[in-house]
Amino acid sequence: MGAQRTPLPDRRLPLVNARLSSTLLVSSLFALFAGCDAEDTQGRQVSAFEGSCAGFCGGEAPTGCFCDAECAANGDCCPDAARECTVVANEEDCEDHEDTGDSGDSGEGDGDEPNPNDLCFLGPDRDNSVCFPLATPGSPSGYNYPSPLNNNYRAPVAYIDLDVVDENTKIAPNFTLGEIASRAKGRYAVVQPHAVERIQAMRDAAGGMRINSGYRSPTYNAGVGGATRSRHMYGDAFDIKPLATSINSLESVCSNNGGKLVEYNSHVHCDWRFDSQDQKLFGAAALAPGSHPDDFTLAEFSATIERSQGVLTAPAEGFDEGEPVRRWTAFDADGTVIAEFKGESFTPPADASVVEVDVGRVVEVSTEL
Ligand SMILES: [Zn+2]
Repeated sequence: MGAQRTPLPDRRLPLVNARLSSTLLVSSLFALFAGCDAEDTQGRQVSAFEGSCAGFCGGEAPTGCFCDAECAANGDCCPDAARECTVVANEEDCEDHEDTGDSGDSGEGDGDEPNPNDLCFLGPDRDNSVCFPLATPGSPSGYNYPSPLNNNYRAPVAYIDLDVVDENTKIAPNFTLGEIASRAKGRYAVVQPHAVERIQAMRDAAGGMRINSGYRSPTYNAGVGGATRSRHMYGDAFDIKPLATSINSLESVCSNNGGKLVEYNSHVHCDWRFDSQDQKLFGAAALAPGSHPDDFTLAEFSATIERSQGVLTAPAEGFDEGEPVRRWTAFDADGTVIAEFKGESFTPPADASVVEVDVGRVVEVSTEL
C-alpha cells in the first residue's frame, strides 16, 4: 500500500489537505495525497484529484488525475472516477468534490504532501481544506514594507508564491485566489485566511460583489498611489463593488463582520486591521501592544470644510482610492437637524448655525456658520 505511480503526474499547487485525519497521518502514505479521504470498495483510501474521467476511463485525464484500476491504490483518482468508470473510488465519499470540480478549478485534491506550515483557506466546501505552501524569499525586490507601526503592521515573513500556485483555485465558495491576489501585482502575495472568511461572510450576506483590489505588493501599492501603510499590503483589505445591493448596505455588512471601512463613491474599502495577524505570514507578535502612540488610529485621513459663496466643500486627504463620500448635516441654533445631504458640496439652509460633514465614514469635521 502506498506505492506511488511513477512518474507522478505533474501536479500544480495548491495542496488540498482535506479532512486530514490522524488516521491518515499514521496509517497511510498514499493518504498523504488524499484530496477527499474516500475509500474504494475494498476500504482503501483514495484521493480525488481535480478533473473528470469523462472520456478517459482506463487512463489518465488531461488534468493529471487517473481513471484506471490502479488509481485507488495510488490515491490519484479523479473525483468522478467511480461514477464515470465504475472501477474505483467510493463515489459517495467524494460527492462534494464532484460538485466543485464541475465549476472550475477548485484546487481540489492535489497530491502533494500536507505540511503543517501550509497556509489553509476556507475553500469551496468551507472546511479549510485549500492549502498553499509558503515561500520565504527574505525581502523580495519590491517588497519594502514600512517600519512596523505595531504588531498589525509588520512586514510578512512568508508569502504565497503565485508562480507555483494556481490563481484559479477557489479559496472560498465564491472567490478564487486570483480575485484577491493577482500575479500582475507581484509574484509574492499575502492573503490572510481570516480575512477571506470575512469576505465570504459578506458575500453570503450581500450577494454578488466584485473585488476591485485585494492584496497589493508595496511597490504596486505605491504605483497606484496607495497609502504608506495601506492594509492592502497586509492581506486583509478589499475594495468591494456591490453588485446586488447598495454601497450603504454593503457598509453595514462590513461593519457587522467586524471590518473597518472607508466609504468611496465607487466602492467600499473594508479591512480587518484590528484582528490578530496570521502568524504563518507574519510570525508571532513581536512588539508590545500599544508600544506605538499611533496604534490603530486613522491619522492618515483628514478633511476640512471650505466655504465659497455660500457653498461648502470638504477637501480631504488620505483617501487614496478615489473620492470619499461626503455626508452633510446642518443644525440650527438649537442643535436641531434641519438638513441632511450626501454629495460633494452642500449649500446649507439660511437658518443653519452649524454644519457637520462625515467624509468617507472615517473623518468628521464641523464648522460654525
Ligand atoms: Zn482599499
